[in-house]
Amino acid sequence: VSPIRKSTDNTNSNNSKYNPISNDLDENGLNDKQKVAENDENLDGTKEEDEDSKILKKIKGVDLKFAKNILVESSRDQDKVYWSDIAGLEQAKETLMETVVYPFLRPDLFRGLREPVSGMLLFGPPGTGKTMLARAAATESNSTFFSIQSSSLTSKWYGESEKLVRALFQVAKAKAPSIIFVDEIDSLLGKRSGDGDDDTSRRLKNEFLVQWSDLSKAAAGRVDDDEPPARVLVLAATNLPWAIDEAARRRFVRRQYIPLPEPETRMAHFKKLLSHTPNSLDDDEMQKLVDLTEGYSGSDITSLAKDAAIWPIRELGAKMLNLKEFEIRPISLADFERSMKNIRPSVNKEGLEKFEKWAKEFGSSG
Ligand code: ADP
Repeated sequence: VSPIRKSTDNTNSNNSKYNPISNDLDENGLNDKQKVAENDENLDGTKEEDEDSKILKKIKGVDLKFAKNILVESSRDQDKVYWSDIAGLEQAKETLMETVVYPFLRPDLFRGLREPVSGMLLFGPPGTGKTMLARAAATESNSTFFSIQSSSLTSKWYGESEKLVRALFQVAKAKAPSIIFVDEIDSLLGKRSGDGDDDTSRRLKNEFLVQWSDLSKAAAGRVDDDEPPARVLVLAATNLPWAIDEAARRRFVRRQYIPLPEPETRMAHFKKLLSHTPNSLDDDEMQKLVDLTEGYSGSDITSLAKDAAIWPIRELGAKMLNLKEFEIRPISLADFERSMKNIRPSVNKEGLEKFEKWAKEFGSSG
């Protein structure tokens, strides 16, 4: 299993509501119509191979086996997330627009003093939408998305992970604009990674930092060039920001707190989740649901709604097999209340206070 992974999360089946032939451009600047045309011409897949071999020729000093693996994985990663799929988090979206989307879409404007940052950290409790934000930033900025799980670098790829990291950065540069999303960054750039006898994890951490600073140097060195620099952003996420090494922390110029959802965000999230399934909740009941779910994360809310949605069917047992869809009763507030007994907030108060303290001390404001 490769650490450069494809999203397997099906909870947000976002693409379904988009016209399958849309005008959204992909990372190569092609819209779906062009892609269909392109695919028609190349049923044997030669075009894609050509693209990949061009990329592989461009990159230097890298084990091609790893580079190929990364290319294959990133091209498989087609589940797009859009801003509109994410409930709330307006401030985080705005910051990402300014940090990634505008600079990537208009590299000519964002140079010199306006050079975009090369690292941004999203931190906060688990299940609050950090991964979704990263994916949406890639979609909205038409960039290639590379997603990497730190724990698999330090476990499965142990020993070879340095080569993988080197290849990852080179491929990302060749396919720029790119976003390298590193989940669980604390385990890659942790205070303890690299301490003591653990030579491999120290080398891995160093390799990552070297590759990353080469990016910023390359960008800064090309201010006077006519060609805008290749844009690559390291976007990292963590539930344990305090575990990140101090020097590494400073390299994330923007550190964005992704908190538990506010009442308005919970409302928007529930409305989105319920929009395609018959339910009997009126405005007052929706408000009650929002009040009852204080402390729930975005993923807790999704799990709760999924569980509540099963009750009308669950209680029918085998009878459901003979019923038409419209004969199933709508989901009610009582269903949510029943499900709340099992699905509890995954972050407690103490945990939350720790995040807030860290955000005050180290987070970017505004
Ligand atoms: P994180 O990376 O912060 O742990 P994810 O982005 O992976 O969280 O979110 C996990 C799941 O929770 C998502 O797939 C989605 O179903 C749901 N979710 C979390 N936050 C939101 C949100 N703001 N809007 C819509 N869905 C959300």
